[in-house]
Amino acid sequence: MKHLFTPGPVPLPHEVASSGARPMIGHRSEEFSALLLRLQNRLRDLLKSSGPVVLLPSSGTGALESMVENLLRPDDVVISVSCGQFGLRFREMASRMDCQIVSVDVPWGEAVAPEAIAEAVRVHPEARAILLTHNETSTGVINPIHSIASVLPKERPLLLVDVVSSLGVTPCLPEVWGVDALAGASQKGLLCPPGVGVVWLSPRAWEALESLGHPKSFYFDLLGYRDSMEHLQSPYTPPISLFYSLDAALALLAEHGYAKWWKERRRFAAAFAAGAEAMGLDLLVRQKRHRSPGVTAIKTPEAKRLKDALYGMGVEVAGGLGALKGQIVRVAHYTDMGWPEMCLILGSIYGAAKSAGLSVNAGFLDVAQRVWEEDAPCGKC
Ligand code: PMP
Repeated sequence: MKHLFTPGPVPLPHEVASSGARPMIGHRSEEFSALLLRLQNRLRDLLKSSGPVVLLPSSGTGALESMVENLLRPDDVVISVSCGQFGLRFREMASRMDCQIVSVDVPWGEAVAPEAIAEAVRVHPEARAILLTHNETSTGVINPIHSIASVLPKERPLLLVDVVSSLGVTPCLPEVWGVDALAGASQKGLLCPPGVGVVWLSPRAWEALESLGHPKSFYFDLLGYRDSMEHLQSPYTPPISLFYSLDAALALLAEHGYAKWWKERRRFAAAFAAGAEAMGLDLLVRQKRHRSPGVTAIKTPEAKRLKDALYGMGVEVAGGLGALKGQIVRVAHYTDMGWPEMCLILGSIYGAAKSAGLSVNAGFLDVAQRVWEEDAPCGKC
């Protein structure tokens, strides 16, 4: 049996997998329009927004590229904030658009300080946009988007946020926070197979887009998607099976209660971190408040051997990316994991670490359990 602990794709809840196997429908049918309307309403509920949400037939990269293609133009000044590999990829997209990049770089494993961005905006008031990553999946850092948005001046560049690995697992509230555009994906916190990109724009960003006109990209023309959606249509053939899965996953999250779900994911992350540290392993992210609820990075010179040993046991985790290649293993916890899964992953890491030649301490489960119980909704379960 395989146990998937990678930061996307994630194991699918049964309802999500089975919904994807429903019979096909025509995408110009009333049934499809009803599905699209349901998805719109569910996503607006999740984002606490009344604006349209565009669904793209793409992974997260396509959704991010659509924001860049639609909202930026060559020679625009763009403040690109990076604290990891995905921040760098976002920057590369703007760079390929021939934008003038102002880089704000943060050491990997640390979160972005709101003041650093405020300062970049003060020095570059002409900037068209700020590019930010909410949850930096390559390090396991979650950035304080709300605090960042709140220190920016009223007259400010458009704030474009990558929520590929945060949407669903933690609050993403663009309207409440003052974000202008966000791009997410189906295969992590939304508990679906890969293949659906989610894009939301603020009224200010839609206005900017209207004045810029259509982008070069025909397929990722967000105005085209918005216009079609007003008639509950998709401009091109949509991934209908994935839409069914997304509908089921969003229903599941809403029925569970978003706040409860987010709390449970934080609880798992905190107890897992405590267990790993008690074992004697180092976590890449030192500051507890900046640790992601979806993915945790363990820093060890034996990262490759640890990952391979886990794989040999049937436990799949992810390795390091870019500058962290060979230095970390990343363990994801986006799904409905409880205490049994905690024992499975911590116990497997313990065994794998020993076989990789690392010296690890026993007693880690007691420590994890203490944190688990401290955070229990009913005090002990
Ligand atoms: N941004 C972030 C923060 C991510 O975690 C990922 C995927 N790991 C991407 C962008 C790229 O998304 P995709 O692989 O779905 O294209």
